[in-house]
Amino acid sequence: MSELPHYIDGKRDSGASGRSGPVFNPASGEEVRRVAFAGAGEVDRAVKAAGAAFPGWAATAPLSRARILFRFRELLEREADTLARLITEEHGKTLSDARGEVTRGIEVVEFACGIPHLLKGEFTAEVGRGIDSWSLRQPLGVVAGITPFNFPAMVPMWMFPVALACGNAFILKPSERDPSPGLRVAELLSEAGLPPGVFNVVNGDKEAVDAILGHPGIAAVSFVGSTAIASYIYATAAAQGKRVQALGGAKNHMVVMPDADLDQATDALMGAAYGSAGERCMAVSVAVAVGGVGDKLLDKLVPRVRALKIGPGTDPEAEMGPLVTRQHWERVRSYVDLGVEEGAKLVVDGRALKLQGYEKGFFFGGTVFDAVKPQMRLYKEEIFGPVLAVVRSPDFEDAVKLCNAHEYGNGVAVFTRDGDAAREFANRIAIGMVGINVPIPVPMAFHSFGGWKRSLFGDMAVHGMEGVRFYTRLKTVTARWPQGVRKGAEYVMPTMR
Ligand code: NAD
Repeated sequence: MSELPHYIDGKRDSGASGRSGPVFNPASGEEVRRVAFAGAGEVDRAVKAAGAAFPGWAATAPLSRARILFRFRELLEREADTLARLITEEHGKTLSDARGEVTRGIEVVEFACGIPHLLKGEFTAEVGRGIDSWSLRQPLGVVAGITPFNFPAMVPMWMFPVALACGNAFILKPSERDPSPGLRVAELLSEAGLPPGVFNVVNGDKEAVDAILGHPGIAAVSFVGSTAIASYIYATAAAQGKRVQALGGAKNHMVVMPDADLDQATDALMGAAYGSAGERCMAVSVAVAVGGVGDKLLDKLVPRVRALKIGPGTDPEAEMGPLVTRQHWERVRSYVDLGVEEGAKLVVDGRALKLQGYEKGFFFGGTVFDAVKPQMRLYKEEIFGPVLAVVRSPDFEDAVKLCNAHEYGNGVAVFTRDGDAAREFANRIAIGMVGINVPIPVPMAFHSFGGWKRSLFGDMAVHGMEGVRFYTRLKTVTARWPQGVRKGAEYVMPTMR
């Protein structure tokens, strides 16, 4: 069985740790390959390669860096179908969804291609007599990205195009569940002309992550994954003096007001709750039915969930693929068991789903709970599967309070025809990304992506201008070229008076 290597200093590298892990095809349930696991030795070699490449890359003109990214963008377009196939094979999502993920990644590359403009600093002539001042943003050095399984191409591309464009060298630690897209992307960057060592991939698990967090040669860490690990990454890396942004889990609510277009809201819920089998950090996992709209909403929703077309991601008819691993399947099933024990009403039960010809696959049917209460763990915790909880709420005030009281604050949506209610909702909601009649409000590449509360640890969101700020540090220069009579030393605070 083939073993995926690391990518260090511009080439594939098998490593010497002797450790590796299995990679499954979730549709067949079979192990399709293995992936090498890095230890401290591989991480150290990657940091050294990146550290050696950094000064030359940082000194490369932003326009020249952008031109490499332009070429990389063309290669991504050329390879989009191959990347999508790799994603589907190891993650399980449908091919069309995987293709969409690649496109959203490409959009960040397109944003990063504008780096000569984005890095333009500020300049003020005459901050004092004969004195000019300007600010510039300079790269941090070697930076690392640690990414989750659910977007093996897009989430790394939230990070490295901006980091590289800003002049940093990058080390990617992809999810060990679906490592192939990360490795392919490294090869495409080399093909685009990126010098060896500027972008490296170390595959692996906690051991590789801990080696990154503890390495003094790494200046900053970007992380996306579950909240428990995000808070560990934030605390550990920050204690080492690194800059950190750590994006965590979510429990996204969709508030359906009584005046909403229920057909539109039902379509939105289907895609947002069951697309990618609910394994999206912006998936809607709670529908808040306001003011008695719940029965009408469920009448429309339930038959649609029962009719969901579930199959392998390679089947063009499939609307939803399998879960990522057997272990994750067990976890989702245990949450459905728990919901029943806690007294929620199981309206559609996906636990028993079996697909002919794919009996060993990790398929889980669409599931709906009604009468879910805020004190239930089913409501409080992230399940990350095709399980929708419906909560009944008497009015707008109660719905806003409910969303704001949740520990997660990644995304939220409101469906209504009332502009005033929508405006009020957007102003008062304590959540980072808000959709108005848009169920999954993922910001475009030129805006920034990030939640609030326990969905993001650190100050800055990813990509857009927040990404440029994260991957650079500010320097302000104040300059005077003396002319005429020299005045000698000045002991008083300089002012314009
Ligand atoms: P995860 O936290 O299990 O893994 C994420 C990364 O951390 C992986 O690279 C993994 O190897 C590493 N890791 C796992 N356990 C570790 C440990 N004990 N110590 C150090 N590193 C460890 O997450 P996942 O299951 O791959 O992804 C799903 C999660 O990611 C969900 O919670 C989802 O909400 C979240 N997510 C959040 C966003 C966001 O933008 N907020 C986006 C995508 C996914």
